[in-house]
Amino acid sequence: MMIKDRHLTDYELTDFFMKLEHKNSKIDNNLRIEAMLLQQMDPILGWQRLRSNMEVFSKNPVAEVKVKGIPVKLVLNKTRTPSIKSNTFEKKAANTSHKRCLLCELDKGQRGILIEDEKYIVLANPGITLPGDLTISSVKHEKQILTGHFQDMIEVATNLFHFSIYFNGALAGASSPHFHFQAGHKDKLIGEHQIQTLLAGKSIGNTSLNSIILTHNFRLFSLKNYLRTGHLFTTKNPKRMVHFIQFYSDKLLHISKKIKVHPNIPNFGEYINSLQDKESEGRMNIMLKYYPESDEYIAAFFPKRTSRPKRYFKKGKNQIILGIAIKESLGNLITCRKKDFEILKNHPDLIEEAYRDTSITKNTLLELNEFLKDYSL
Ligand SMILES: [Zn+2]
Repeated sequence: MMIKDRHLTDYELTDFFMKLEHKNSKIDNNLRIEAMLLQQMDPILGWQRLRSNMEVFSKNPVAEVKVKGIPVKLVLNKTRTPSIKSNTFEKKAANTSHKRCLLCELDKGQRGILIEDEKYIVLANPGITLPGDLTISSVKHEKQILTGHFQDMIEVATNLFHFSIYFNGALAGASSPHFHFQAGHKDKLIGEHQIQTLLAGKSIGNTSLNSIILTHNFRLFSLKNYLRTGHLFTTKNPKRMVHFIQFYSDKLLHISKKIKVHPNIPNFGEYINSLQDKESEGRMNIMLKYYPESDEYIAAFFPKRTSRPKRYFKKGKNQIILGIAIKESLGNLITCRKKDFEILKNHPDLIEEAYRDTSITKNTLLELNEFLKDYSL
């Protein structure tokens, strides 16, 4: 079965549109995706793996931990195990090109919505952080490289405004080498609330925004004392957003060339088996969303050295299985073993350490901020 044959037509979704009570709104891709999520959870028509993961999800223990005054949500979620432990982009990872690609060969019952002139298919993400999580996968098998997809990312965010669009770079937490964005219902993650609070001029713990560029239609900030390095960017101009992501990516690449983290993680620029190429873009997690009410785009960029904290590679009781990708950058830390959940719950300093291990260093951030000042409007 071809990927395009997995598309759910409006006819197939009829019953599910009814459940959404959308009476006054016209059917657009936001509604189609909401209906698809209901269809995939249907006991007869749906996707069995999603249904069983949802069952596990509903029993997940959750804790809120304050790390230096900043609340972080900690979850024990076994359905995320394959993503957290994925070694697709690790040094020892063998050439996986012969392996079955889960985004090329979809599971039985897995259906989705084709968007952007059938260039992408929107699927329910079976590794659930929050119900409604999506994988927006390229219909063709392409490498997990953002260059060439900036425009697509803005268009997807503009059209799917019920959702926040996420991207994990290949060595910044992506678990599949097949090009994909992720998405989730907008403003549900704890870090998304914190970003809105900070942009509104309020504080969280000692976190503040350090303004880099400020004009009436362009705001760029560096996050200060937020445990992880990051930048926020807002504009009402979609072309400016495309242009700025390009600029940011170029500058990040420039400062990334010295990255050397751990023997198990490739040094920046090395040949990566699963990409079948040398690493060619900076390591980062991105969140992008669009608010039609105010016609505004908000992006958060989290530049990284790696997605793996040092303790991931320790042995025995010193090991903590944790990866820092976009959901974690947005304050939602996912563990897949009870032991790690308990340790992190009782040791906020280890959460701080995980963010620090994976972020770019203080000096590199200062260097990057200097480059970003040069962005010309
Ligand atoms: Zn593929």
